[in-house]
Amino acid sequence: MADFFRGRRLRSTAALRALVSEHHVTAQDLIMPYFVVDTDDAAFRKEIPSMPGQFQLSLQEFEKQLAEAVAAGLKSILLFGIPKCKDATGSEGYAEDGIVQRAVRLAKSRHPQLVVITDVCLCEYTDHGHCGILQKTEHDVTVANDSTLTLLQQVAISHAKAGADIVAPSDMMDGRIQALREALDAEGFTNLPIMSYAVKYASSFYGPFRDAAESTPQSGDRKSYQMDPANSREALREATADVLEEADFLMVKPAGAYLDIIRMLRDGFDLPLAAYQVSGEYSMIMAAAQNDWIDLDAVTMESLLAIKRAGADLIITYFAEDIIKRGLVQ
Ligand SMILES: [Zn+2]
Repeated sequence: MADFFRGRRLRSTAALRALVSEHHVTAQDLIMPYFVVDTDDAAFRKEIPSMPGQFQLSLQEFEKQLAEAVAAGLKSILLFGIPKCKDATGSEGYAEDGIVQRAVRLAKSRHPQLVVITDVCLCEYTDHGHCGILQKTEHDVTVANDSTLTLLQQVAISHAKAGADIVAPSDMMDGRIQALREALDAEGFTNLPIMSYAVKYASSFYGPFRDAAESTPQSGDRKSYQMDPANSREALREATADVLEEADFLMVKPAGAYLDIIRMLRDGFDLPLAAYQVSGEYSMIMAAAQNDWIDLDAVTMESLLAIKRAGADLIITYFAEDIIKRGLVQ
């Protein structure tokens, strides 16, 4: 009799491996982000150079692409808008007929069963590219926390009125979950869930997104409100605050380089946990695959499986539409 562990027994056939597989990625877990542009050109469809396969879309093009994706099995989307005009307070972000508000109405009218999540932030709508209102201090310019909350409330309410199923604040202002909850409740949206970007790092992996959403800060960076990548205990404080303020989901962003943080939140909290596989993670996989250095499908699926294994229930990923359409996930 062997006196060592024969782990290979359970790996000997594909059927056995499937039987004992601990984690799975399914279409139900995946949320697809879209970038919708306010434009008079109905046929507008522009590939994002740093994100091959991802497009900025006019409302009409979005409608077409979404119809195909939903027919293939896509269940949830996350919407970002690119307005015609930007200003200091990001007013297109909370305009009743803003681009995201129109995209929500369109998506829900065509696909009532689709889960439509909206990004609640101001950086795509401000001319300076920051996530809130700028305030001059003695030595510096910074994003004013409390006055930004008032605008974020307006953004969330405008999304709720348009028919969003979930609002997802990504701004990283302090107290925003409480502010949004109060505002939504006051307007009668007591049942509208908030998916908090609870733990959002000031990450360099966001680079390609800023091309896509045209939201690069004109000056400075976002390190005074997003988290320092060196910190993990701080993630618990951020998540705890959001739970106390009544968030319905927590999120970790980015995902692949922050699997330890996903696991920490999974172990520490019982809310549904989302992870955002960000633009840079997508672009790195795509670039290497286009060079034939890696196998696109295998690496994509492994990257998503790792995020599930780390503890995420849901994954926001730019791969969602493609892998659902091609049947890589069911
Ligand atoms: Zn932002």
